[in-house]
Amino acid sequence: MIYLDHNATTQPAPEVLVEMHDALARAWANPSSTHGPGQAARRLLADARLRVASFLGCQAAELVFTSGATEANHMAVTGALALGQARGRRRWLLSAVEHPALLALASRLSADKLVVAERLPVDGQGRLRLDVLQARLGDDVALVSVMGANNETGVGMATPALAALVQSAGALLHVDATQLPGKSGWRFDASGADLASVSAHKLHGPKGVGALLVRKGLALPALLAGRQERNRRGGTENMPGIAGFAAACERTARTLAGDLLHMAQLRDHLEAALCQALPGTTVYGAEADRLPNTSCLRFGALDSEQVLNRLERAGVVASSGAACTASGTQPSHVLLAMGEGALQAKAGVRFSLGRDTTAAEVQQALEAAVRAIAPLLAPADATPIPTPRALAA
Ligand code: PMP
Repeated sequence: MIYLDHNATTQPAPEVLVEMHDALARAWANPSSTHGPGQAARRLLADARLRVASFLGCQAAELVFTSGATEANHMAVTGALALGQARGRRRWLLSAVEHPALLALASRLSADKLVVAERLPVDGQGRLRLDVLQARLGDDVALVSVMGANNETGVGMATPALAALVQSAGALLHVDATQLPGKSGWRFDASGADLASVSAHKLHGPKGVGALLVRKGLALPALLAGRQERNRRGGTENMPGIAGFAAACERTARTLAGDLLHMAQLRDHLEAALCQALPGTTVYGAEADRLPNTSCLRFGALDSEQVLNRLERAGVVASSGAACTASGTQPSHVLLAMGEGALQAKAGVRFSLGRDTTAAEVQQALEAAVRAIAPLLAPADATPIPTPRALAA
């Protein structure tokens, strides 16, 4: 099986498993306990916090461990909106291509009439329409939420210039940075963001743990009340998860620069060869700044479900960004926001590579994809699969 779905999740790294096991076996006491075993767990927690903070480019005190990016997003938004409300600001601007859970939160808060949530459009490449953002910013806007990079297309959105624009209007910027660590050199301290959400399982760490990074000086109210995490997140800390998160960060940092180049080279080869072999292939976000591992394509207007089933039978696991239901694939809200029609928006297929993906796997996936898809496009066409010299070596 060739796994090309790393934006959905990644396999935990071996050192992650070791540290998680150690934390479960040895640091199982409650880090809030004042006795010896509790203090040992507390030391492990403090050490893990420093390791994660160092990788993400934040101070230890700026990092709040959560159950993942979904919780971090909820904490960022509810906290920032509560701060805004105290200053008479009730509007929340968020991009139309945010994660479905954030869009669901926007619908819920709007239905409760607690805030006015407004979706910001993107252009045909998936980039935020800065002109529209600028026009919509005002002294009643509490918060702007954008993705660091979109999970379906890999297109990046959050820049320090965007942060400056938002902050100059007196609003806070929340970045859902879940897709960035391990796939870019992103750091919180250089991002300009006030709040950023991350998740360990996207960088070969465990599921069920992540963090919200909160800029120093911002007194963000808790989502889960309690004394842990400096009164910012109640609940006994997920020690094995946090230890695994720290191990994943260190492992990622060790080879990051080379991994980014490696993934970009393989992704570019896969994309170029598929476009050449399968006429009518569209690459989403090709002109935008994109993550180096992500390729979101459509083959003519072939339904993604049909393509993905054939790919999986050929041993290649990819995904559609769109939500699948029992009744079939829904059009992707991301591709719809980029201006696609309903048919095309059900045709997006996402290949997302990982640092461990090999050139041989990509070549195999490419050959399998052409064999699986070409007959659906043009049964008589037996286009040979190109093998660029660089990769054939
Ligand atoms: N935001 C983005 C951009 C994501 O890709 C994901 C994971 N699919 C999430 C949020 C949710 O992360 P978690 O699984 O940690 O809740």
